[in-house]
Amino acid sequence: MSKPKEYSAMTKDRLMLYTFIALLAITIVSAALWSQVTPTNLMTGTTSLNLGLTVIICALISVGVAVGIDVLFYKLVSDSPLNLMSAAVYGLIVTLSYSLGLPSMNTEVGLPVDAPGAFVYVGLISLVGMVLFKKVLPHKLNPAAAAKFLVLLPLFNSIFIAVDHLKTGWLGVPALAGPLGGGIAPVGDNGMASFASYLQGCFANPAVATPPDVPYIMIFEKFHGWVGGASSIAVIIAGIALFAVAHRFIKWRITLAYFVTVALMSVILSVAYADTDMTYRLIFSIFIGSSIFMGFFMATDPATTPLTYTGQLIFGVGLGVLTILIQTYMNFFGGSILALLIMNLTVSKLDQIGKLTPRQEKKEPKLPKAKQFAAEKVKEYACIKCGACMRVCCHALSPILIKQAYDKQDFDALAKLHADYCTGCGHCTFICPARIDLRKSVLTAKGMMRQQ
Ligand code: SF4
Ligand code: SF4
Repeated sequence: MSKPKEYSAMTKDRLMLYTFIALLAITIVSAALWSQVTPTNLMTGTTSLNLGLTVIICALISVGVAVGIDVLFYKLVSDSPLNLMSAAVYGLIVTLSYSLGLPSMNTEVGLPVDAPGAFVYVGLISLVGMVLFKKVLPHKLNPAAAAKFLVLLPLFNSIFIAVDHLKTGWLGVPALAGPLGGGIAPVGDNGMASFASYLQGCFANPAVATPPDVPYIMIFEKFHGWVGGASSIAVIIAGIALFAVAHRFIKWRITLAYFVTVALMSVILSVAYADTDMTYRLIFSIFIGSSIFMGFFMATDPATTPLTYTGQLIFGVGLGVLTILIQTYMNFFGGSILALLIMNLTVSKLDQIGKLTPRQEKKEPKLPKAKQFAAEKVKEYACIKCGACMRVCCHALSPILIKQAYDKQDFDALAKLHADYCTGCGHCTFICPARIDLRKSVLTAKGMMRQQ
């Protein structure tokens, strides 16, 4: 038997397992909360499947489709790796970013917000995302966001420019691009006094005669919108727990920058439009399902977000600004999806901003505890872009960028990245959750640079 190898305890599979547990906890909370509701379609008077049960079936479908496709590719395509945990995480994200509905909103002008139509869409989004954005074009666009966008594109008028959401549309929702009020009153000409009652009408438990206050609804229990946003507090607890156990590998700075930006943008719009009470716009912007779930669990997808801290902060700010602009001026309340895809396109540029300056002198970093792994069980994955290798290099090098430049034989990039400073300490290989032998690549690149 070959000698065991020593690495930090975090592997890609373990990171995916922790993420899956956090997402599963949110799914269970959402299903339990929504089990109180069995939707009735106001147009037809028909009832559909209990909403909690719908959540569970959607989750089983999306995880089943994602895992099934992962296995299929593994069996049929020679170089396709088996990433079951990653596929399962993706499947849950598809369900948690899908909109299911409250009975009074269950009009189905566009997206089916109840069973059985929702099952078809969730399955389709899982399939498209898995094949196109995880297997064929990996690491470019967030797979769940890109697949949802693509599948819903034919419903552009009813989903992306939600005509029924407008105050001129028949749902009479006050336009966000105008003054909003906090009073509980019928929809007025300018929607001033109606925003709070709209929020109650849209998100409160329809089984309760007197709806709770808006802050309680938005933070603890919503009955319409993204499944993952049913309980904002559940998302916050699960998200922070995940950040705490995997802080070196999860890009929590994006989440922080995103929510600070969203809050600031909301206050600016409140002042600009002279809202009678800025609380409601602020609470809506932060705690709507597409914001709270997006901020914690989609915006931090390591593979499609920047490597550097500065890049991550810019990414979070850009995501926040675009989300609010899209929600306000397109009335597309799930606009964070489109904002995320736009920001994904900037990642290669953002990766170049905020790199540490390589130094010749050595500075020992604080490393996590080491763990021994049987040599034959050390499995290498594709880089997940966590950026951890860049933070532990004692010469402030960017090992993953050096490896990429070396793989492309890009000598100009290699010269700028200073592979020659590497002293072979191996910290980068030690920390890498994908178990890539970065040390070997950087040292080989260094040798090649010397021969040039
Ligand atoms: S092996 Fe080289 S690149 Fe990797 S951490 Fe050590 S000095 Fe940096
Ligand atoms: S190579 Fe670097 S960025 Fe990629 S997974 Fe490993 S530690 Fe993370």
